[in-house]
Amino acid sequence: MSFDSLGLSAEILRAVSEQGYTEPTPVQRQAIPVVLEGKDILAGAQTGTGKTAGFTLPLLQLLSQQAQGKGHRPIRALVLTPTRELAAQVAESIETYGKHLPLRSTVVFGGVKINPQIEKLRHGVDILVATPGRLLDHAQQKTVDLSHVEFLVLDEADRMLDMGFIHDIRKVLALLPSARQNLLFSATYSQEIKTLADKLLNAPVLIEV
Ligand code: AMP
Repeated sequence: MSFDSLGLSAEILRAVSEQGYTEPTPVQRQAIPVVLEGKDILAGAQTGTGKTAGFTLPLLQLLSQQAQGKGHRPIRALVLTPTRELAAQVAESIETYGKHLPLRSTVVFGGVKINPQIEKLRHGVDILVATPGRLLDHAQQKTVDLSHVEFLVLDEADRMLDMGFIHDIRKVLALLPSARQNLLFSATYSQEIKTLADKLLNAPVLIEV
């Protein structure tokens, strides 16, 4: 099976083929069409399965279908990750897969100066990748506006819970519009993940790889 039959646009397919990918991985095969249909997903997928492209490719497509003008733009997609390393990796993937699209993205995480992040946010981005703590710092300082978010991704949600981010996640959720599409990725399913999924997801499609 090739990428062509998944419903992705020419610009995205070009970026994928420039990466040297010839076939979608199982999680990509399952997730991409479902996300493009606008459905929530609960995906059990570990690192190394290609899960990042599994959510990034359809998100880029949905966002580019209604690309904003050149001026200021609200954040429409938010990706939360447990660690700064993962945040940086996801942000890089978004840049790579979206390089032929007129979308802007940036990443915020703790442990580095906040001012350069504020500058980037001020320019306006369509997609924000963030770790929860630093995102809340920005929210408190009113340097980020999450009131137009249409897509939320929780990547490695089990690790976020293990690291004690549940309260931060709840605070972030309270800042988001309630009508949105939600994608939850977790390598494991604990009771805590089930509780979060119940609260967060609307009739999710289950994806197991
Ligand atoms: P991830 O599980 O998202 O961290 O991805 C693991 C690795 O697989 C990354 O280095 C990706 O660049 C690579 N990858 C993702 N999708 C594909 C694909 N369809 N074909 C080949 N490699 C891929």
